[in-house]
Amino acid sequence: MDVSINDSVTKLPGVGEKRVEALEDLGIRTIMDLLTHYPFRYEDLTVKSIEDIEDTEKVVLEGVAISDGVVTHFGRRKNRLTFRMNCDHVIVSVVFFNQPYLQNQIEAGKDIKVFGKWDSVRKQLNGVKILPQVAEGAAREAIYSTSKYIKQGTILKLIKAAWEIYHPYIDDSFPQPFLKEHDLLPLKDTIYLMHFPEHEWELEKARYSVIFREFFLYQMKLGWMKKQIKQAQAGLSIDYDVEKLKAFFASLPYELTNAQKRVVNEVCKDIKSPGQMFRLLQGDVGSGKTVVAAAAILAAKTADKQSALMAPTEILATQHKESLDEMFKETAIRVELLTGSTKKKERDSILEGLVDGTVDCIIGTHALIQDDVFFKDLSLVITDEQHRFGVNQRKALREKGLNPDVLFMTATPIPRTLSITAYGEMDVSIIDEMPAGRQPIKTYWIRPKHFDRMIGFLKKELNKGHQVYVISPLIEESEMMDLENATALHRTYQEILGPRINVGLLHGKMPAKEKDDIMQAFKDNHLQVLISTTVIEVGVNVPNASLMVIHDADRFGLAQLHQLRGRVGRGSTESFCILIANPKGEKGAERMKIITETTDGFVLSQKDLEMRGQGDLFGKKQSGIPQFKMGDIVEDFPILEEARHKASLLLNSKVFFESEEYQLIRQEVGIEASHLFVLD
Ligand code: ADP
Ligand code: MG
Repeated sequence: MDVSINDSVTKLPGVGEKRVEALEDLGIRTIMDLLTHYPFRYEDLTVKSIEDIEDTEKVVLEGVAISDGVVTHFGRRKNRLTFRMNCDHVIVSVVFFNQPYLQNQIEAGKDIKVFGKWDSVRKQLNGVKILPQVAEGAAREAIYSTSKYIKQGTILKLIKAAWEIYHPYIDDSFPQPFLKEHDLLPLKDTIYLMHFPEHEWELEKARYSVIFREFFLYQMKLGWMKKQIKQAQAGLSIDYDVEKLKAFFASLPYELTNAQKRVVNEVCKDIKSPGQMFRLLQGDVGSGKTVVAAAAILAAKTADKQSALMAPTEILATQHKESLDEMFKETAIRVELLTGSTKKKERDSILEGLVDGTVDCIIGTHALIQDDVFFKDLSLVITDEQHRFGVNQRKALREKGLNPDVLFMTATPIPRTLSITAYGEMDVSIIDEMPAGRQPIKTYWIRPKHFDRMIGFLKKELNKGHQVYVISPLIEESEMMDLENATALHRTYQEILGPRINVGLLHGKMPAKEKDDIMQAFKDNHLQVLISTTVIEVGVNVPNASLMVIHDADRFGLAQLHQLRGRVGRGSTESFCILIANPKGEKGAERMKIITETTDGFVLSQKDLEMRGQGDLFGKKQSGIPQFKMGDIVEDFPILEEARHKASLLLNSKVFFESEEYQLIRQEVGIEASHLFVLD
């Protein structure tokens, strides 16, 4: 029978159906998954002496029991077990709550070792557990992430069993000389030491190895993708008509900002040059990305090429159609909109136009480039607000077989350091300048006790005929609670504002169609107030909305708050954002202050990164920033840089592509043998 590290966990003794499910919840399917389910922290189990410990510190004390354990009952079904012990001539009392069964382990005169929390006022140790006398080597205990259905002890037992049986089968994809050169531990040692470290330095070394490997492989994948893109030479050079582009810009009611000009040039250069464009266009909300997209679309058209503009929702697609129609009103170009609500007859005619080439540009949701949609000559794909795309989706898009130029647009400002990591395979263009004459959104921070005054202000805005967004508190852990909060808030506002004001509700659990309908009703001013969880779409334009109220604003990242407030200030009216928050601690208050004072999204996201770290940057799910198992792109940034540098060196070396010893890494990176031989 073949034994492999990729065997299912069911091969381990004691893993039945229930356990399999519980493990799967933790993302563990194979033995390797289990062995790389690393502890997220370690409990220090070295014995301390009383003088060295601080109040509430978790410690291990060792001593001689000077009394038997006594159990007393109090309250309903509660009890405490107490005894005293002599720790190097200091008498300490030890208390265990609701663990009466420990009583028989305690006996006057016996040596005892207890792990617990120190209470320095009472000179008392609140016991957590009694440790075995003969320490099993390790002076620290690994703590694993668990779930309701599987406990610490079980996970540790399974890992031990897996290690015993399977450690001879752990293959390292990194060759020995490479490990040596980079001061990394072999995979086998790394795994062992992550779970069972004896010394701090071992743990540190193992952690470094894990993080380096993780970052390195990711950077290799990005680097390889970039290399492929640069090498793709499928005659993609589009020879557009510069004069027609110039005429287009001259027809606009405004002059492009310097940043827009620079970015248009970058994009056009990609379009003209052979090889595929793969570019990310970052620009704050309202910085004018649409006109850049329009220029690219027009450039393609002047060379008789087709383009597609994809948006995440119908409503955004419709909005783009309207803006392009306006911009192109003096330009001969056929732009069509294709969505779920397009009538059959019209749809047929559009599809026909795409095939015979009479439709120059198609706008829609990303169903656009799928299945039954065929093009005569699609050579440019633009996606809007697709910061939620992961690496694999980006790859899928590129591999549509069409090899089109691709331009991603996003309003999520990502600090430069991060964008290199998250989007390393793309070129990045940034619009870092706002069109002149924009009215900044006035942002205020108030405490919840001033809610009534805020309502007074809100009513005034409504009386002026303006509309209002209200964002309900974000509960990362629970979509259910998100929904309850939003629903409760909806009731409150509707009650306060009375029947003459229509208050709508938008939340993540709604079907897409319903969301679109609600959003449309708000756009059409059938709803004056919109209560929403954070699902409200980035980019939807409701110029009549002048006020954004955000409840429990301290729960959001700065970058996220900035995006949310970008929903207002889209018309000519003066706009406001009111943050309601009772932040805990100085840091929270400082964050609220920063957002009221800064309107630059890049500055805010950098600040956010410094203050809160990567995990919270944009809300976990939607950042498009890869989630690493161990590495933290903020805290471990030096390792990330090191890995990036090393990956780039290796990718540019001949030995990597030719040598047998790199075969496993090549496999992990997804480099197939067929890539390695150039038939010429
Ligand atoms: P976003 O980057 O958020 O997609 P848009 O492209 O929707 O921004 O542009 C926001 C608004 O700014 C639009 O009404 C657009 O017409 C206007 N705009 C774009 N560029 C300029 C400019 N250079 N000068 C003045 N207004 C501009
Ligand atoms: Mg936009």
